[in-house]
Amino acid sequence: MAYINDNYLKLPGSYLFREVARRVAAFKESHPDADIIRLGIGDVTQPLPQASIDAMHKAVDEMAHQETFRGYGPEQGYDFLIEKIIENTYKKHGIDIAKNEIFVSDGAKSDCGNIQEIFGVNNTIAITDPVYPVYLDTNVMAGRTGTLGADGHFAGVTYLNCNAENDFTPALPEKRVDMIYLCCPNNPTGTTLSRKELKKWVDYAKENESILLFDAAYDAYITEADVPHSIYEIEGAKDVAIEFRSFSKTAGFTGTRCGYTVVPKGLRGHAADGSLHDFNSLWNRRHTTKFNGTAYIVQRGAEAVFSEEGQQQVRALVSYYMENARIIREGLQSKGMQVYGGINAPYIWLKTPDNMPSWDFFDKLLHEVNIVGTPGAGFGPCGEGYFRLTAFGDRENTLRAIDRIKNKLHF
Ligand SMILES: *Cc1c(COP(=O)(O)O)cnc(C)c1O
Repeated sequence: MAYINDNYLKLPGSYLFREVARRVAAFKESHPDADIIRLGIGDVTQPLPQASIDAMHKAVDEMAHQETFRGYGPEQGYDFLIEKIIENTYKKHGIDIAKNEIFVSDGAKSDCGNIQEIFGVNNTIAITDPVYPVYLDTNVMAGRTGTLGADGHFAGVTYLNCNAENDFTPALPEKRVDMIYLCCPNNPTGTTLSRKELKKWVDYAKENESILLFDAAYDAYITEADVPHSIYEIEGAKDVAIEFRSFSKTAGFTGTRCGYTVVPKGLRGHAADGSLHDFNSLWNRRHTTKFNGTAYIVQRGAEAVFSEEGQQQVRALVSYYMENARIIREGLQSKGMQVYGGINAPYIWLKTPDNMPSWDFFDKLLHEVNIVGTPGAGFGPCGEGYFRLTAFGDRENTLRAIDRIKNKLHF
């Protein structure tokens, strides 16, 4: 009989959203008429920008004629999209990124998950706690983490605690680590790291020859000047950081699928024999071997995001969600709750009243006011006592939800 990859047995399972679904289903069974409002899962609700729709229609028509039909494209993405990315995301901010440093993909989740393949299995990793689960779980699968202890921590992982006490600003690890995952603006906490804080991490990575894995999926939601839109705005970052970006939250592409990863040339690691190698070549090898390119139609849709109309439409989408964020944040504050995030990110991270455990607060919200959120504990031990609400709902539901919390929730 074939052996399985035993590392998979170390995973706690897709516990979080499965348990959320189970509790919601049980509640519905006993309360079939309840009008449930979902502010739980981090998925967008508003339609794609019209510029992307028009571009994709046009691309579909091109597929209907032999002269304009496209088969396999370059695995790394079409130049028309890569050039727009460089121009709009980097050059405009004085950052110099070359075409062969960008790899277009079907989204940032796959890239965040796959990137660890080009790193040695004995590397040590640091993740923030709470965390977007993909960074951790993919390292568990690869065998880089050891086993899960009773305290909810994997023995071989360095956890960087983020809570209200440290203003969601993690301290540098005491013990040297090889790979550090940072997400800014953050999912789930909705908080950010300032230029000064990020410089601290870039300097740490330089000193310790570590690599930063920087997830910028929420950059479009940044409203404050002191929050960098790219890790490469920080001096020296091109020597130590890989950056993940996505059209999902920026332009509503969660179901359309397009993202990209930047692996700067000159980002190096050691081989077992001590020789130096470029991570860019390794990622190129991996990407071209295991991935056959994002659909032409989708890349045309993504390209259109950078057109003048596209930019206007995306700004409107983002402000729509950020107005929801304001409504949620101020609504909860008026009820005397402690809330974080929601200024540079579409997530509101709230402290549960009276230090109620996250799952108890989940049940209370579901049963008393029929609102589904996400218990903070599901994102890591440090998330206990916190709760996440998303601003990705539609306006009407967001207003109704906050009205219910203000007027019908008792604590
Ligand atoms: C939503 C999200 C992404 C983007 O995922 P896609 O695969 O591009 O849809 C990446 N990182 C974080 C932290 C996210 O929340």
